[in-house]
Amino acid sequence: MRFLSGIQPSGNITLGNYIGALRNFVKLQDNPEFTDFLVFVADLHAITVPQDKTKLRQNIKSLVAMYLACGLDPSKVHIFIQSEVHEHAELAWILECTGYIGELERMTQFKDKKAKQTEGVTVGLLTYPSLMAADILLYDSDVVPVGQDQKQHLELTRTLAERFNNKYGETFIVPKPFIAKEGAKIMSLTEPTKKMSKSDPNPKGYISMLDDINIAKKKIKSAVTDSDGVIKFDPEAKPGISNLLTILSVLTSTQISELEEKYKDSNYATFKDDVANVVANELEPIQKRYNEIINSDTIDKILDEGRDYASYLARKKMTKVFNKVGLGRKR
Ligand code: ATP
Ligand code: MG
Repeated sequence: MRFLSGIQPSGNITLGNYIGALRNFVKLQDNPEFTDFLVFVADLHAITVPQDKTKLRQNIKSLVAMYLACGLDPSKVHIFIQSEVHEHAELAWILECTGYIGELERMTQFKDKKAKQTEGVTVGLLTYPSLMAADILLYDSDVVPVGQDQKQHLELTRTLAERFNNKYGETFIVPKPFIAKEGAKIMSLTEPTKKMSKSDPNPKGYISMLDDINIAKKKIKSAVTDSDGVIKFDPEAKPGISNLLTILSVLTSTQISELEEKYKDSNYATFKDDVANVVANELEPIQKRYNEIINSDTIDKILDEGRDYASYLARKKMTKVFNKVGLGRKR
């Protein structure tokens, strides 16, 4: 089975990305069912919204260092940069010619990100899911672990794969989503009804994995909650407290019901202190490793290997796709 996933270098990795994505990759890399494990930096996705070019380059390198610091092992995982394997963009175009505008306009992420744009909405923001589908289908990925927020895009990927297969004959493997049961969606600390995002213009809304430990703790302690003083999991009525319970539950591998019992006589300040300390303890060793890696020269070698391996697989697939569609000359 082949595993594939990626994260955009659109800012510093957040606790949401860590819990919803990265942490799961690290656990899964040792699963013997995966014969192939690919993790990439989704830089082509990042430019669907405005990016500063110097910052983008920094974020790309930083994300690779973060992959390694969180425990991805380059002897088990091929790590590469999306834009260095040009077949992603090639297949995205073919899938844009497979999907319908209406399908793309319905996507929640498109609607959310569109609302935040002040400099105009790019076509890329709309066609983002075609590129994501290309990432997945290019490698015949069987299992694609995504957070809850990307589930809709994965469903569209399945639709596009099936539609293409019906039209041109069996070409793509229809991928299965993999969503961790708990903690799959971490919410913003300032607006707990919205998901935590690394591109949030308000840094208080998210914990960056690179936040100064004291700042990270402060963000948890000032997280927006409610005023009824009861520590109970109820995402509808108590989104803030529920979000903190989810974070604590995932990071301590404790059931939410157990936490509710433990904190039934506590106040919010005590509870938040505990969550803040648990988050700080998770961040500290990762930051230490990150600082070692970002200053070392191993990153380039890892990325060269990843690019070569991914390119080999991608080229083979694209030759097949071109032949099915009738593009170019027979190869
Ligand atoms: P952006 O705001 O630029 O979209 P992001 O924080 O949403 O950034 P992505 O690069 O879009 O991050 O997503 C990377 C991975 O992290 C995906 O697998 C996605 O499902 C997961 N993820 C993103 N946000 C969360 C969240 N709040 N909770 C859990 N998982 C998340
Ligand atoms: Mg996102």
